[in-house]
Amino acid sequence: MKKIVIGNWKMNPEKVDEAKKIASGIVKVCKNLKKTEVVICPPTLFISAIAETLQKTKISIGAQDAFYEPKGAYTGSVSVAMLKRIGVKYIILGHSERRELGETDELVNKKLKVCLKNKVTPVVCVGEKVRDAHGYYLAFIKKEIEHSLAGVKRKDLKDVVIAYEPVWAVGSKALKAIEASDLSEMVIYIKRTLTDLFGPAAAQSVRILYGGSVNKENAGEFFNGSGLSGLLVGRDSLDVKKFGDIVLLTEEVASIK
Ligand code: PEP
Repeated sequence: MKKIVIGNWKMNPEKVDEAKKIASGIVKVCKNLKKTEVVICPPTLFISAIAETLQKTKISIGAQDAFYEPKGAYTGSVSVAMLKRIGVKYIILGHSERRELGETDELVNKKLKVCLKNKVTPVVCVGEKVRDAHGYYLAFIKKEIEHSLAGVKRKDLKDVVIAYEPVWAVGSKALKAIEASDLSEMVIYIKRTLTDLFGPAAAQSVRILYGGSVNKENAGEFFNGSGLSGLLVGRDSLDVKKFGDIVLLTEEVASIK
């Protein structure tokens, strides 16, 4: 199975022309990929324009959120089906910056089920705000996974992506990225949690990504024996050179394995 690198542009850049320029640059860097799938998640307003730029390339377009109802009186919202119609293949759900604004596991769960029904891949973000010596953060991750994936059918798990994004490692206020050895442990823990919920075969089919201060210096080591399926990149996904280097490193790792 291919590795995935997702770029979460958040509310950047400010203008659509800039967005198209970045996307075109990424297309160039990514033109020879064989083992890595690249997904760009621009602001919703730019999705159509970027989808056009990505036409006839292998790069997929994603969204940063969606609402679970198909239509109606939901001011400011956009449905999963609407996004799918303009080419969206992946939708990030429960990003820590959305959780900070009130997104709950229950909302993530509803959105995830609608994504699966519409055959759009949900990328469910989970991650603790802080670490403690007693391992309470592990219970927190377990709860996020249990609640976000409640009621999902075993057979659908292969279409779910989990992005482990410890909040303390995400964004410009981040302390630092996780240590590669700690990430390996977390991937095992997440797989164990999924195994308890859905059994070993289904758990194995879920792709697990890491996100949080990923850059070209640390990207390679995260794959070292961790069973990681890919990366979710924030800040560095807006810089063609930096993002390109992360993608090419991932391709290199994927080609060895
Ligand atoms: C993110 O926003 O999902 C993220 C991982 O951000 P950054 O890479 O900037 O830490």
